[in-house]
Amino acid sequence: MTAIVSTLQIEQLSVSYTMARTQQRLVALQGVSFSVDSGEFVAIVGPSGCGKSTLLRLVAGLLSADDGEIAFRGWASPPKRRLVFQDHALFPWMTVINNVAFGLEMDGISVELRRARAFSLLDTMGLADFAEYYPHELSGGMRQRAAIIRAFVTEPDILLMDEPLRALDAQMRLVIQEELISLWSRQKPMVIYVTHDIEEALLLADRVLVMSGLPGRIQEQVHSPFDRPRDLTGRGYSQLGELKWHIWNLLEREVRQQLRPAVR
Ligand code: ADP
Ligand code: MG
Repeated sequence: MTAIVSTLQIEQLSVSYTMARTQQRLVALQGVSFSVDSGEFVAIVGPSGCGKSTLLRLVAGLLSADDGEIAFRGWASPPKRRLVFQDHALFPWMTVINNVAFGLEMDGISVELRRARAFSLLDTMGLADFAEYYPHELSGGMRQRAAIIRAFVTEPDILLMDEPLRALDAQMRLVIQEELISLWSRQKPMVIYVTHDIEEALLLADRVLVMSGLPGRIQEQVHSPFDRPRDLTGRGYSQLGELKWHIWNLLEREVRQQLRPAVR
């Protein structure tokens, strides 16, 4: 028997915004197509303003497209989706454990069970001692870890991550990347991870979708050649360098164009 793979299929997706002041339309995404299997970790890189957050909002169901289709195939019911943003968005008036448990409130689980599940995951991630702290009492890295745990505790089918580690320093980012991969390996949700960092995309993902500048399109899909757990010393290190260079070549022209917009 072959296992049935659930997929997210995006076909020819286009969306535009109407600018409030001028009423001009800005085409944010045009003809975007790709598909992702359940359990797959896909990263999206592209120049800033190319429509990456827009794409995540569409998949999350927070925005509707002008054209094209977002189809969830092979799921018995619509897949549970969760978004994690760059600014952790914890509730400042709730303790860490209540913030994490809040993720389960929408699922209709009892208060006791919510807190038990939240505590168990915080404990696994080494945050048990901070369960009763308030967000302002934690470092930025700790807050972002809590936000990631809040998303995972609900066991989403699809996790949409919008530059979640952007605000952190490089060392902190490396540690949280490792934690993220360990959480993902245990649950294996589909992850769509937006980042401006080419190396981060290659380190984390099975596949990297490279977008163009506005209107955003998918230029190329790059498969990561690295086995998990990833060891990027020796041959892996030079392969990483080659792939980074390849992706940068795809992005460079788009980024330069942004710095020198055509003057009419
Ligand atoms: P990215 O996440 O890749 O930086 P976004 O998806 O946030 O890009 O935005 C894509 C384009 O759409 C940008 O040019 C941005 O200015 C514009 N945009 C985003 N949200 C809105 C909005 N609510 N109203 C008007 N324009 C928007
Ligand atoms: Mg964005």
